[in-house]
Amino acid sequence: MNKPRCQWAMYAGGDTPLYIDYHDNEWGRPVHDDNKLFEMLILEGAQAGLSWITVLKKRENYRGVEVCEMHNYTLTRSKRKTIAIYVRDGIVEVRSPLKTHKSEIDKFVKSKEKWIENTLAKSAESKNQRDNFTLNYGSQILYRGSEISIVAKHGNRVGFDSENRHFYLPPNLSSEQIKSACIQVYRMLSKCDLTEKVLRFAKSMNVMPTAVKINSAKTRWGSCSGRKSLNFSWRLIMAGDDVIDYVVVHELAHITEMNHSERFWAIVESVLPDYRERKSRLKSLQKRLCGEDWG
Ligand SMILES: [Zn+2]
Repeated sequence: MNKPRCQWAMYAGGDTPLYIDYHDNEWGRPVHDDNKLFEMLILEGAQAGLSWITVLKKRENYRGVEVCEMHNYTLTRSKRKTIAIYVRDGIVEVRSPLKTHKSEIDKFVKSKEKWIENTLAKSAESKNQRDNFTLNYGSQILYRGSEISIVAKHGNRVGFDSENRHFYLPPNLSSEQIKSACIQVYRMLSKCDLTEKVLRFAKSMNVMPTAVKINSAKTRWGSCSGRKSLNFSWRLIMAGDDVIDYVVVHELAHITEMNHSERFWAIVESVLPDYRERKSRLKSLQKRLCGEDWG
C-alpha cells in the first residue's frame, strides 16, 4: 500500500515518478542523500523560487555528473579550518571543517584531481618496491648519505669497515637475516655518530640533554622528551651529514623551546642559517625509504 503523501505534494511535484520516489523513499531520511547535495539544491531552489520538481530534476543531473568524474573518497569532518586531502595506501581521505558544504568539498577534490592521480600512482609504485625489497651480499645501502655495500666476512661479527666503507656480516645469511644484521650495525653507528654530533652542537648551543637514545621510529626522525632526553630513529643515520645535523639541532633547540614557535625557528636558524634546504633534503630520504621495507 502506498504511503499517504502530504498536501503540498500536488502543489510541489504532482504525481511525477521522480517526486513519488522522493516522497516514499527519501523524505525524512536525509542520510539517503549521502552527498547532501539535495539540501543545497532545496536551499538554492527556494531562494530562486524553483518548483519542487525542478529541484528534484536538478538533483538527478548532479548525480549523473558526479559518479563518473570524481574520485571516491572518505570524508572526515572535524573542528578544523581548511579542507585537506590525504592519500594513503591507495585510499583518498578528505578532512573538512564541520560545516563545509559537500558541493564545496567535491569542488576542492576535483581541483586536485591531477595531484590525487599522481599521488595514487606513486604510492602504488612505492608499495610495489617495498614488497620487492630484499637485501643480499653486494646490495647497496645508505650510510651518512653515501651508498655502501654489504660484504660477507668470515666469522660471526657484524660491523662497519670505515676504511673500505662497507658493512660486513657473516656469510650464508638469508635476506631477512641480512636485513636484521644491517639494522644492528645501523643502530651501533647511529648511537655513536649521533651522540658525537649532539655533544658537539649542545656545546655551541649552550644546552645539555639528559640522554641520547636510539629507537626504530618510522615516521619521526627525532624527538625531545619533557625530561630533555633526545631520541633519534636509527634510520636517520642513512641521511647525509648536513641533514642529520639539522635534525640534531632541531631537537636540541626543543630543550629551550618545546614548540615550533618563531622563537624556536630563530634558534635553529642561528645555528644553521640554511636549515630550510636541509629540511627539504630530508624529504628525499623519506621518499627513498618509502620504497624500502626495513621493518
Ligand atoms: Zn620539532
